[in-house]
This record gives sequence, C-alpha cells and structure tokens, in this order.
Amino acid sequence: MSEVRHNWTKEEILDIYNKPLMELLYEAATIHRKHHDPNTVQVSTLLSIKTGGCPEDCGYCPQAARYHTDIEGNDLMSVQQVKAQALRAKSSGSSRVCMGAAWRNVKDGPEFDQVLEMVRTINKLDMEVCCTLGMVTENQAKRLAEAGLYAYNHNLDSSEEYYKEVISTRGFEDRLETIDNVRKTNVTVCSGGIIGMGEKVEDRAGMLVALSTLNPQPESVPINALVAVEGTPLEDQEPVSIWDMVRMVATTRIVIPETQVRLSAGRTQMTREGQAMCFFAGANSIFAGDKLLTTPNPDVNEDMEMFKLLGLNPQKPFIKKMQPQTVEAEDSKYQDLGEKPKWTRPDHKIDRNEEAKQKAKALK
Ligand code: SF4
Repeated sequence: MSEVRHNWTKEEILDIYNKPLMELLYEAATIHRKHHDPNTVQVSTLLSIKTGGCPEDCGYCPQAARYHTDIEGNDLMSVQQVKAQALRAKSSGSSRVCMGAAWRNVKDGPEFDQVLEMVRTINKLDMEVCCTLGMVTENQAKRLAEAGLYAYNHNLDSSEEYYKEVISTRGFEDRLETIDNVRKTNVTVCSGGIIGMGEKVEDRAGMLVALSTLNPQPESVPINALVAVEGTPLEDQEPVSIWDMVRMVATTRIVIPETQVRLSAGRTQMTREGQAMCFFAGANSIFAGDKLLTTPNPDVNEDMEMFKLLGLNPQKPFIKKMQPQTVEAEDSKYQDLGEKPKWTRPDHKIDRNEEAKQKAKALK
C-alpha cells in the first residue's frame, strides 16, 4: 500500500497535477488499485430536503436568497416524504442518501429534531445516511451520530485564499471547525470542492493541501465542476474542460489515496468517455438522481447503462465502515442545548456577488 501522507505541499501537488497526462493517469490508476476495487463505484442519491431561501452568499449557488434564480424553494420535507425517496433510491442501486438543507448552520429545535428522525428512518432502511446542513456544533454532531448518521458533508469549496473571492458571509476557519466537530464523533467526513469558479490551478492545489493535511483525511471527497446558473455571480463562467476534471480527480486520488473520490455536479456536461477516464483516474463514487439539489444530473437509468458498458458494479452499503446503531429520541444521551454559536461573518465585499444582488433587487 502506498502510505497516506498528511504533509503534502502545494508545490508537490502542482507537480502531480501538471504531469504529462498519461503518466498522471498511470500513477493515479496504480494507487487506485492498491486501495480500492477498480470495478466498484459507490452510488449516492442527493436529496434536497429544504430548498432555497439561504441567507449565505456563495457565488456559485442558486439557493442563495439574495440572487435572482428560478429555483423553487420548499420548506423542510416530512419524514414520510424522505422515506419514500430513500426507498426509491435504494431500489435503483443507491447505497447512500445524502440530505441537503439550504441552511447557514444547524439550529436546535423542531426542524433539527425532524432531520434527526429522517436519519433514524433511513439508517433503519440499511442505507448509509449523509447530511449536509451547514455548520454544526459538537453537540449537534453528536446528536446526528447517535441517530445513526454515517457521513457529514461540509465542502471546503476551494483554497483558503480563493474562498474569500466566492463567499463573504462565513470564513474558511468555520468550515474546518465544523469538520473538527464531526471528527469528535464516529461519523465519517465528506469534504471536497468545486472547480471552474475562476480559480487558478494553484487554488485547486491549495484546496487539496487543506483536505490532504486533515488527519484523518476525509472518507469521501466530492469533486464538483461548476454548473453556472443564471442569476448567480458566477453565471458567466466557462464550463470546466474534461481534461481539468480528469487531472483534478487523478491528483485527488494520489494525495488522498483511501478516500472515495466522487464525481458530483457537472456530470451532465461530461461524455461517457470523459466519465470513464475519470473512473480510470480514481473516481469511485457518483451522485445519482435526475437533480443534484437544484442543478441537472444524468438519469439513473443512463448511469446504470454506463455501469454495464464499463463493467462497473454499485458498491454495497457499509463496506468501508460498520453500520451505526440508531438510538431513539427518547433514549438520547444528548440534550437540545439551544446553542447560539458565533460563527464568523467576515462580510468583506465581493464585487460580482454585490452586482448579482443588485440585479436581483432590481428584478424584484
Ligand atoms: S451553498 Fe449552501 S450555504 Fe451556500 S448559499 Fe447555497 S445552500 Fe446556502
């Protein structure tokens, strides 16, 4: 086995990213085979349990309330609705359900209690449960773990330097703190980012430095290609080239060898040949379902056809780590603390975010 290193430097990662492509692919594929079955790919279904109306200003996100996009918002789904969707996902080959809520951070109270009940319900369906709910405190992470949460997603998005060019309503250090809070439980960490937001290759390497130097490294790393949505500050960004995607996947595989590298947003822009190259380069997870929160995604049947064509098999649940036990609400060891944590609010000005906000105001 190649060793897992936690001391990668930006220069080393850039050297890997910029290798001649065939050498990069060969190295990544070799490491991939040492740590994973190359014919198995994890299939996750992403479910937006609360859409739109988010107070944050993430420049890539159509769910931010301050931008004018044609996203239809919805309140928190019911446990029964979520259960029905999870069963559908299970029958079409997904082993994991990832529930996303457009929140800045988790707030104790009835809505969080409802999410905890969703976690219990899906875990009892013998599926891995992941949540992406924004920033969480240690107590909230512990309550999620107790309900049977398998993974918590919290993306770093980009390098620490470029993060400031995309988001002004919270700091990079909040991301790290939330990951740290999740690490105080037995819940696995899912954290990755987005390419194609106008960042430099150095920023992509910087993000991989931040992820690979976490100890332990995240158990999954989603690599998203920006889907530029009209009305968002990043609406005019050029689509990411497949070559950049392949290089990013291969480099991630080399520096974070044991993780599940997930092809996430932007897959509709990729051909099957392009996706096959990503699987060869070390991607071993995809998001399934016709929508990724709010942006389009390939049809589940299309994905299963592609799997057949490439000889890939969906991964069974709980292969990497045992299924967590679910503790019922009435037996919980943890209290609703009603915490009001002070997450940072840098509020520096990002010109393109301001422009998109003014444009939205004028349209309202
Ligand atoms: S990415 Fe998440 S936190 Fe940022 S605006 Fe969208 S929903 Fe809100």
